[in-house]
Amino acid sequence: MAALHEAGHAVVTLAMGWRPGWARVGHANCLGRDGEYNAAVRGLDATKAHERRLILACMLAGLEAERRRSHRSVLELCAFGGAGGDYNAAVALVATSRRAPPDADAVAREIEAARKLSRDLVARHWRAVLAVAAELCARKQLSGAEIARLAGKKGAIAR
Ligand SMILES: [Zn+2]
Repeated sequence: MAALHEAGHAVVTLAMGWRPGWARVGHANCLGRDGEYNAAVRGLDATKAHERRLILACMLAGLEAERRRSHRSVLELCAFGGAGGDYNAAVALVATSRRAPPDADAVAREIEAARKLSRDLVARHWRAVLAVAAELCARKQLSGAEIARLAGKKGAIAR
């Protein structure tokens, strides 16, 4: 499941037109707490709603890839897997970057909209997600270029 999760992040990153950073099994977050994964995403401005939606969709792509495979609820995946960290980070990003007073309903709506975008991209590029996940599972670590090449064969291409 970890490989599928990371492949979800990587392929959605690609599908949005960015080159993914390296990925390895066990790595927890799209934005990369160590700052290495997915540098392109960090160039976006999270205080702008549109750009924040793209960042969020990428952050939630691991969760959505897991959901597509397991059909578990978001709650279950967050409780039992690595997706909880991503989900909490996404909520925190919305809460701290909105230029508006705290509003739990608005935050939830934004998370839902980003999840829908993420889910659509995961579905559209599912074959690429599976191909990257299989290779990641076998080799434990892939560079951004390797991910782009693998996903590209299945139609997910960085612009
Ligand atoms: Zn993740």
